[in-house]
Order: sequence, then C-alpha cells, then structure tokens
Amino acid sequence: MKMIVAGAGLVGCAMAIALKQEGHEVELIEKRSDPRLQDLSSGRSINLIVTAKAINLFQQLGIWDDVKKITVPVYGRMMHSVEGELTYQAYGRDDSEYNNSISRGMMNNLLLDKVEEFDIPIHFEKEVSQIDLKARKIIFEDGGISYDKLFGCDGAGSPVRAALISELGKSASYQVEPLGVDYKEFLMPADRSGNYAIDERSLHIWPRGKHFLMALPNLEGSFTMTLYMPTEWFKEYDTEEKIEAYFKEFYPDVLEFLPNFTKEYFKNPEGFLGTVRMNPWIYEDSVALLGDAAHAIVPFFGQGMNCGMSDIQFIRERMKAHGEDWSQILKEYQSHQKPNGDAIADLSLENFEEMSAKVGDERFLFKKRVEKVLENKFPDTYRSRYGMTVYTLIPYHQALAAGEIQQELLDELIRDIDDIEQLDLNKAKSLIDGMLLPWLKKRELDLTKHPF
Ligand SMILES: Cc1cc2nc3c(=O)[nH]c(=O)nc-3n(C[C@H](O)[C@H](O)[C@H](O)COP(=O)(O)OP(=O)(O)OC[C@H]3O[C@@H](n4cnc5c(N)ncnc54)[C@H](O)[C@@H]3O)c2cc1C
Repeated sequence: MKMIVAGAGLVGCAMAIALKQEGHEVELIEKRSDPRLQDLSSGRSINLIVTAKAINLFQQLGIWDDVKKITVPVYGRMMHSVEGELTYQAYGRDDSEYNNSISRGMMNNLLLDKVEEFDIPIHFEKEVSQIDLKARKIIFEDGGISYDKLFGCDGAGSPVRAALISELGKSASYQVEPLGVDYKEFLMPADRSGNYAIDERSLHIWPRGKHFLMALPNLEGSFTMTLYMPTEWFKEYDTEEKIEAYFKEFYPDVLEFLPNFTKEYFKNPEGFLGTVRMNPWIYEDSVALLGDAAHAIVPFFGQGMNCGMSDIQFIRERMKAHGEDWSQILKEYQSHQKPNGDAIADLSLENFEEMSAKVGDERFLFKKRVEKVLENKFPDTYRSRYGMTVYTLIPYHQALAAGEIQQELLDELIRDIDDIEQLDLNKAKSLIDGMLLPWLKKRELDLTKHPF
C-alpha cells in the first residue's frame, strides 16, 4: 500500500515515521527546499512549547531523547507590569511539571534527519496543488503520483483540504476566523557573557490588554520575543520613532535588553493569527487531514503542534487495533479527534483573553493561587484545566468540559474571600466531591495518572 504524506513540517515528518514504523511504504512531498541547507536565523524563529501530548508520541516513536536535548525547561509565567513589578505563577503542581521550549526550525530539521534515518524518501521543492481524489492521484506539471492513502499535513493553507472542500461541496463545512490580532517576532540576545538577560526558567508576559509581549528562552542564551497587536496597529507603527515610543510607554523594563528591535521590527514579517475549522477531516478511506491542515488555531495554549501529534498518536493506536481496515481507522479518527480539535481551538481563544488581560488582574491571580492549593491538597480529585490540557493525555474536549465545572466551583469557593488564609478546605472538599467527582468518575478520568 502506497502512502503519501503532503508537507514535511513537524506533523508531516512525525506522521511519515509513524507510518513507516507500522510497516508501510511512505513518501513525503514538500514544497519548500530543504530547510537544513538554509541559515536558521533567517526568516521566522517561532518558539514552541512541547508538552505531554507531543512527548507521548515522540516517546512511542523513540525520538524523544533527541528532541529533549534541544529544549529549554520553562516552569511558570512571569508577568511584568508597566511599573516593572514581577509576579510569578508556576505552571504545574511542582517542578516536575514544566513546558519544554524549542525552536520550531531546529525541531523541524531534527525531524527531517529522523525521517531520513528511517529511509523515507522526501521530495523537496514539489508542490501539491491538483489532486484527483477519486482516482487517488496527485497531479504535477511533470506527471503525477498515485497513492492508496494521502495524509494532508500541509499546514494552515492546506491544498489537500482545498481538494476535499471542492470534492465534497456542500457536505463540507469550512470557516477561517481571523483573530484580529497578529504578531511579529524578534530576538532578545544573550548578554555579553552569553547569559540570559532575564530569568530563563519562565515564559515572560507583559500583559497589556489587546496587545502584549511574550518571551520564551532559546538554547544559547537568547529569548524569542513575540509582540501581539491588533492587525491595524502594525500599519500605524510605521516608523522607528513610533515603535520605540510605543515600547517606552508599555514595555519600559525590557527596552535595555533589545538593542536591535526597531530594525528587526521592520525587517521581520507580520504573522497572521486565526482559527480554521473544517469538517470532515477525512475523505472516504483514502485521505485524512492532520495538524494545522485540520485545525489551525491561535497559539495561546501552546497546543497547535501538540494537538497535531495527538492526531498521529490516535491514528497509530487505531492502526494497531484495525490493521489494514482504513475505513474503520479513519472513521474513528474523525469521530474522536474532531471534537478535540474543536475544543483546543476554543481553549486557545479563551487563553488569549487570559494571557492578554487576565494575568494582570488581581482577582484572576487570586483564583489561580486558590486553584494551586486545591491541586496540591486534593491531587486525586482536582487538576487544573491547564494541567489537564498540558501535562496529561486527557483529551482536550474533556479538559474543556471539566474546566467549566471548575470555574463554577472556584467562583463559589472564593465568593466571600480575598486572602488565601481564609480558604475553607472543608468547603473546597465538599464542592469537589459534589460538583466535580461524579463527572470525573462517569468518564473514568484518572487525574493521578502522570505519564511523564
Ligand atoms: C506564534 C506561534 C506560536 C506557536 N506556539 C506553539 C506552541 O508553543 N506549541 C504548539 O504545540 N504549537 C504552537 N504553535 C503552532 C505550531 O506552530 C503549528 O501547530 C505547527 O507548526 C503545525 O505543524 P504542521 O506540520 O501541521 O504545519 P506546518 O508547520 O505549517 O507544516 C506544513 C508543511 O507543509 C508544507 N506545504 C504547504 N503547502 C504545501 C504544498 N502545496 N505542497 C507540499 N507541501 C506543502 C509547508 O511548506 C510545511 O513544511 C505556534 C504557532 C505560532 C504561529
């Protein structure tokens, strides 16, 4: 059976390895030239966080040890107020739980090396555009490639998805929802001694409402900074003086560490943010969309790639259960993963609110502190929505639903208090037992299971 994976990005490379490990003949088609032959510092330098869902797949594929070597552990969020005050919020229950910051470019290059170690052919500079879904053939100007199965891992602008939409007509639904906030990246270099200029154990956020700044550490002492602003502001800040004045007003404590940022601001591209919702993700028993091709989302939960890796993990498990019965494999993929894709899209939009504004809100931070106490006092029955999403394999749609119950519970618990000393743990226990536990038990969700 001949399998083609369209797109040799993060998800395409991992999918090709997963198929090969199950004994399939697989080839990758990639429109770009080989990125390993280019200077990594050119173009975008997006940083990602790698968490449980991707780690789980990488462990199964036997590549996690190598990926981990190029990550930097990040243990919590450091919020910077305009006055320069710092507030730290740990991510996990303790320091055994952290996010792994990685350069997307370095990770893609490593995965391409792994693909080659598995003897999987990669056809660079070959662009998929026309597909005859009925004949199972990708048509190029200089001929075509037939396939038995085609996996569209070709990113947010997926031509494989476009072929599905055109073939399925009205029975497909497809929306692109722009966020109205876009981003630009630039670098905070290491200091003169090669050290990080700010605390490297944290993701830094300068929350300022609809616009904010973020920083994630890189391996060699620098930080990748991401500036999020309403789309139209990028046009308004059109001179070095204007953007510098903007930084002086909103991010004064960081300016001294950004010697080149005005130049980089004008040199680096502006990135679009939005949510792509598509249904279905499959065509008969021959085509499936994975990763951003199926569910491009806004990046505020750090789960776009992680969700793509969970798509692959699900298909791997179904391949083991159903062998060559691809009709069944793809049907189950659609019914299981599509709700997860929708849920992580919604969670990510909600987290935009949280990161841009709420992390600077006293009441919100108090609620988070209370939640941390509950997570530690009641580890068998209380896991924050963030913890479930990021540090466990609990499906995204269940984390989303549990989170709604938890918000009600927390609101009730902190209604009349504003100091952690006033927290009534008996009341907390009875609220958890009454509101949350029956829901968790019904779904057999075990919060104590920690796979890593
Ligand atoms: C600012 C930002 C921060 C993010 N942070 C995180 C994070 O912390 N954690 C996380 O999990 N995710 C994060 N993401 C999301 C993550 O980057 C994506 O989810 C991930 O890169 C998707 O991988 P993919 O392989 O599906 O798509 P892509 O990485 O887009 O790869 C698609 C591949 O297909 C190729 N291709 C496209 N068209 C064709 C064609 N016609 N023919 C052949 N090949 C083609 C492309 O060249 C590319 O190589 C972030 C995204 C952004 C923008």
